[in-house]
Amino acid sequence: MKPLDFSHLSLRDLVSLDACTRCGECIPVCPIVGAGEDHATAFVKIDQLQREWRRQDGGMLGPLGRLLGRGRRVDPQDMAAASYDCTLCGHCAQVCPVHIDTHHLWLSQRRQLAAADLAPGNLQATAATVARTGNIGGRPAEDRMAWLANVDATGDLAPRGADVLLFVGCLSSLYPQAFALPRALLTLLQGLGLRVGVLGPEEVCCGFPLYIGGRADEAVALARRNVEAIRASGAPLVVTSCPSCYQTLRHWYPDWLGEPLGPRVVHAVELLAERADGLRPAARPLRVTYHDPCDLGRRQGIYELPRDLLRRVPGLELVEMAANRENALCCGGGGDVEMARPELAQAMADRRFAQALETGAEAIVTACPQCTRALNAAARRARRRVPTYDLAEMLTAPPEH
Ligand code: SF4
Ligand code: SF4
Repeated sequence: MKPLDFSHLSLRDLVSLDACTRCGECIPVCPIVGAGEDHATAFVKIDQLQREWRRQDGGMLGPLGRLLGRGRRVDPQDMAAASYDCTLCGHCAQVCPVHIDTHHLWLSQRRQLAAADLAPGNLQATAATVARTGNIGGRPAEDRMAWLANVDATGDLAPRGADVLLFVGCLSSLYPQAFALPRALLTLLQGLGLRVGVLGPEEVCCGFPLYIGGRADEAVALARRNVEAIRASGAPLVVTSCPSCYQTLRHWYPDWLGEPLGPRVVHAVELLAERADGLRPAARPLRVTYHDPCDLGRRQGIYELPRDLLRRVPGLELVEMAANRENALCCGGGGDVEMARPELAQAMADRRFAQALETGAEAIVTACPQCTRALNAAARRARRRVPTYDLAEMLTAPPEH
């Protein structure tokens, strides 16, 4: 087994190992704890990293640290399990009184673990699939247009000359249960008078699942392919309904490439809040609750725009779950946990779904294809007819139930 290389951690990451006061504030908010396990909290991961760093290199304390760390080896497999069972939900960073940037730390740790061949096997298989096909489903590039099958009159969707480029994302492009989302968004955008383009077979995975799995080089290679296609379109605006694609294109691509992407990148919620007017009323009065996706809420601070849009739909009543906005529970769909520990991801989704039920809502609305999928699966397991819709679906044709 290769040794863990601490040069994957930035100076700030390393300083944060000592900055952690072991106060435990991050423990109760961790969704892994809510799902009945306690091995993957920020508290545990930081303690493991600090102990191993001291044992190997002395940490910040040099020879004294080596002395303190002597004989305190942490099993690298335990570190890998703790690291990859984390959904990267950001809740620990939200409550940490000394403001440790845990998200940055977790990503650095995953690069360290992947370099030591300690990433879960399923993640390595997904990386191989993406390298072979350009998408997480292992499908031919032409299947990127599958979501448009049987849709009437989509008009010209050529990327060149479009007002807005719709970056559809792997999940919405390739998985039939998610097709309603991009279809609804296309309808909404065209209804606003925009000429919408899609990259189709030219679009590849944004790189998010590989980057958060610790495989930065492969993620950057994917970014280069997307950036070339996006720039070639000449579109001034890119819109996506996936918070992970959004975070990657908007914030990480410029970092990875060392230059601005060019066009502005927005999440669908931002574009709709800016431009949508005269929203269609619901077919009947409907009580809904909004689930904050971690990558849109805690990571990007977008809490009110989707709620404002829902309040503008005549006939909808918005009720809040006990944990909402920055305190929202994670649905379990993030962090690649589903690849390594599907049963753990499901336990988190079940807990969030139960909280939604407590509101008496007849439907859940969110703004993420992965959250939609996780919560709908939880409804099926609970045998409850409380569906989850993406916001775009709710705004296009508020369901009748
Ligand atoms: S909340 Fe912050 S300081 Fe407290 S144990 Fe967790 S990571 Fe450490
Ligand atoms: S990011 Fe979320 S899942 Fe990961 S340790 Fe922090 S609170 Fe727990």
